[in-house]
Amino acid sequence: MKCPYCQESETKVVDSRLLKEGFSVRRRRKCDGCEKRFTTYETIEISMPNIVKLDGRREPFKREKILDGIEKACQKRPIPTEQIDRLIENIEKDILEISDKEITTKQIGHIVMMYLRNLDPVAYIRFASVYRKFQDIEEFVSEIRHDEENFSTTGDA
Ligand SMILES: [Zn+2]
Repeated sequence: MKCPYCQESETKVVDSRLLKEGFSVRRRRKCDGCEKRFTTYETIEISMPNIVKLDGRREPFKREKILDGIEKACQKRPIPTEQIDRLIENIEKDILEISDKEITTKQIGHIVMMYLRNLDPVAYIRFASVYRKFQDIEEFVSEIRHDEENFSTTGDA
């Protein structure tokens, strides 16, 4: 890492601090040449898969979109923000386990619903009803039943 003041390439790390639960590091460095100090940040870069939408169009993965959907579903529910953050982290891990190239919105929806289902029943139903655009309540209920069957067969419930 070159010194931003004098371009000297020899610098010393005088302090390191882990940030954000260990996913980034802040380093204070001191230049061997001019002795000025500067700060660098090191973060992990994970490349997420592209999202394949229902109509076949592809778009880059956006964490904010998923977060937005989950926050709407969790509105006015007694769910702490940290729990939602952790949820997003788990969802991203699950997505990466499926693929780091492409994933369908449907697959993402299923993952999100699985987590919300365990987190909060109201948030789950809100998300599911918006996500699946149900025509009527019967279809909604039968879908939930269908899900229950799926969960009990995979032993995930
Ligand atoms: Zn320097």
